[in-house]
Amino acid sequence: MNEVILCKYGEIILKGANRSNFEGMLIKSLKRRARRFGDFAISRAQSTIFIKPLNQDSDSHDKPDIDGMYQSVLKVFGIAGVARAAVAEKNIESIKDCAAKYLPAQLSRVKTFKVEAKRSDKTFPMISPEISAEVGGVLLEVMPHLKVDLSNPDVVVRVEIREDSAYVHAGQQRGAGGIPVGTGGRGLLLLSGGIDSPVAGFMMAKRGVVLDALHFESYPYTSERAKLKVLSLAQKMSEYCERIYVHIISLTKIQEEIKRNCEEDYFTIILRRFMMTLAERQAEKLGCGALITGESLGQVASQTMEAISVTDSIVSMPVFRPCIGLDKEEIVRISRQIDTYDISILPYEDCCTVFTPKHPRTKPILKKVLAQEKLLDFEALCDEAMQTLETVQIRPDRPIDMISL
Ligand code: ATP
Ligand code: MG
Repeated sequence: MNEVILCKYGEIILKGANRSNFEGMLIKSLKRRARRFGDFAISRAQSTIFIKPLNQDSDSHDKPDIDGMYQSVLKVFGIAGVARAAVAEKNIESIKDCAAKYLPAQLSRVKTFKVEAKRSDKTFPMISPEISAEVGGVLLEVMPHLKVDLSNPDVVVRVEIREDSAYVHAGQQRGAGGIPVGTGGRGLLLLSGGIDSPVAGFMMAKRGVVLDALHFESYPYTSERAKLKVLSLAQKMSEYCERIYVHIISLTKIQEEIKRNCEEDYFTIILRRFMMTLAERQAEKLGCGALITGESLGQVASQTMEAISVTDSIVSMPVFRPCIGLDKEEIVRISRQIDTYDISILPYEDCCTVFTPKHPRTKPILKKVLAQEKLLDFEALCDEAMQTLETVQIRPDRPIDMISL
């Protein structure tokens, strides 16, 4: 029996003139993913994308990996629901036969069900309630443990009569939502090893943004393990965002100079202004239109309204902070959902924890910060830091080996 993956659009449906652009991006993104899992034909019709595995019946090793593709499709932004369906010919006998063979595996553990049929091909000779009744009848025959419950069933079996074929499935799973990556511009994510920044990246990718990532290290104050941790966070994110380039810049010299020359209370805010400056420089080189950080209002001293205002005043690019209004519990929930949490809590040092002041300013005053910065050669330190840049390409199909950590 031939199977197919059906993807239902999310927000794209609301798009007007731009819709075909969004659909095009989505199909492109699915095609790129499909390469990893074998030969699939990908097409669209009536607000649904059809992913058809080719050579399903062959025994050869190039048989497409439908399970792998299905799991991957659940992480594609722009798709609201995903179903695995069996394909039947467009006549009621074939549909019943298909339901009787395909659904028992999925219905063996449930007690109640109902069937909902939908005809987008109105030339089909039966109306939807008749189709539902016929298919319901055959399912009761092959699985006598089942009962029909029209108001609150455990599973809704769906029969979709479309132009080319009929499709039978046991309901759809929720997709990743959002809009397709590539429709929202390009952004540079400041990626630390913490919980918040991967979540921030995920949230912006969900709004269609292609991500580049920038990580600041402070070797030897931070270790090789801390860097690997960040790369494996990026790898987890790449399952949603596809390929990500992680750019790494050393802040060691800058941090040492701040420590040597500036008042301790200002260390953090000045460091953050360096980070934003370097990030903006790198973003411009990459053609990114915004910076993205994982800040959440009031979480730490550098994330008060006053501190954020002083930090932002050094850059002219917009800074997106999608976690700004979330509390830690909400951020943790998302990080568990995208599977970055367990990596984020590994206890490796971050450059922000090097030379941390005892009492960082929660309400820094710009004039005073500027006076402190005059004690440094800000531009020259930035130029020097940019020289340390290295770039690592991260792909979803190449997990980082965390065992070595
Ligand atoms: P996170 O959990 O993402 O580390 P945090 O609550 O620890 O965030 P901070 O350390 O103040 O907060 O960092 C705030 C934001 O600054 C981070 O979300 C991230 O976007 C950026 N950032 C912090 N450290 C680094 C770093 N080493 N490299 C790149 N960006 C960083
Ligand atoms: Mg951090």
